[in-house]
Amino acid sequence: MDTLLFLSPSEAGTPLSKQALEALAVTKQLAGALGTTFSVGLWGANPSADELAACGAAKFFVVAGAEFSEPRYATDAAAAEALGRASGATVLIGPAGSRWNRTLAGVAHRLGGRADSHVTGVSSEGGTLGIARWYYRQRMEGILTRTQRPWVLAVETGIAPAWQGEAGTAPVEAVACAPGAARTKVTGIADQAAGQQTIRPDADLLFVTGAGWTKKQPDGQVKVGEAEPLILDFLRLARASLGSTKSLVDLHGEGQATLTFLTHMNQVGQTGSTPRHAKGLSTCCHGEEPHTVGWRFIGERRAISLDANCGWARGKADVLYVADAFAVMAKVNASLGEKTEI
Ligand SMILES: Cc1cc2nc3c(=O)[nH]c(=O)nc-3n(C[C@H](O)[C@H](O)[C@H](O)COP(=O)(O)OP(=O)(O)OC[C@H]3O[C@@H](n4cnc5c(N)ncnc54)[C@H](O)[C@@H]3O)c2cc1C
Repeated sequence: MDTLLFLSPSEAGTPLSKQALEALAVTKQLAGALGTTFSVGLWGANPSADELAACGAAKFFVVAGAEFSEPRYATDAAAAEALGRASGATVLIGPAGSRWNRTLAGVAHRLGGRADSHVTGVSSEGGTLGIARWYYRQRMEGILTRTQRPWVLAVETGIAPAWQGEAGTAPVEAVACAPGAARTKVTGIADQAAGQQTIRPDADLLFVTGAGWTKKQPDGQVKVGEAEPLILDFLRLARASLGSTKSLVDLHGEGQATLTFLTHMNQVGQTGSTPRHAKGLSTCCHGEEPHTVGWRFIGERRAISLDANCGWARGKADVLYVADAFAVMAKVNASLGEKTEI
């Protein structure tokens, strides 16, 4: 029978990320469905399991040491490998953030197992562990099983509610780990070029901008200068994440007037990302790819477009506002601003 291990970096005094707690919830749910136990494995300069004391784990393992605090492949992989060996678990589960995504394949190799990333669901039919993954730019879902163990998994964000529970005192077992030679030194974190964080995977709302924001408006004027503060104010007030169509982010490369804070990282769709948010609002956007593929995992969708006949907005949005996005967003911002001041 499989036994499970939830893995995450951790530091005492800093709560685990929402994404890590979602992966823990998936681990716990899977253990229940398979009728097996799960353990927790944490690493860092001074990792603490107290926040997870009530999660129901059979054991808590930690690798501690100053060198394990930095987000670095060599030390992350060494710690996860040591925790995997100490726990004896056959399935290792971590959150699909930048640290685990770059580490899990190496950990699986060292343990003689297999790795799968982008896990969007788990199943236990007939007592056999299965994982769900999307293929062909998120158009088809497949369920995979594997006979090889250990099986090392990276769980996507937004597929389960984050685990919540009372903190307490968790009895931890220290695991010895030699960090090995680490050539990489983390000297700081650089924010994106414009210094404006616009991609927020944890946000409730995805706000999608289309090329219409940069097009001539009914009065014959291009109003990119007005669009920028409207969009940035909305993102700040609603704490929304920013997605964009390909056409709009491509304008940068063509030297045309565009929204300066957009990069290709914001692009959603067939050749962009397919983020998971509870709600989505697309503005000035006509494209098929953003509406069909980019919104694949958005729960409730609304669109603002001047084009009442836009088949994609009509077909894929739950509510279509046929209106001028400049006017609508100015009113929305004013109303959000009032609410924030209260
Ligand atoms: C192989 C391939 C892959 C692709 N991959 C992607 C992808 O991953 N992601 C992606 O986004 N695209 C992708 N595309 C491009 C895609 O097909 C569309 O061309 C593109 O998404 C259209 O961009 P848009 O909606 O921003 O702009 P447009 O098509 O120019 O639409 C602008 C819309 O804004 C409206 N508008 C203008 N002013 C206002 C206003 N004031 N208020 C309200 N509405 C207004 C207009 O009526 C119009 O409907 C791909 C294309 C190909 C061929």
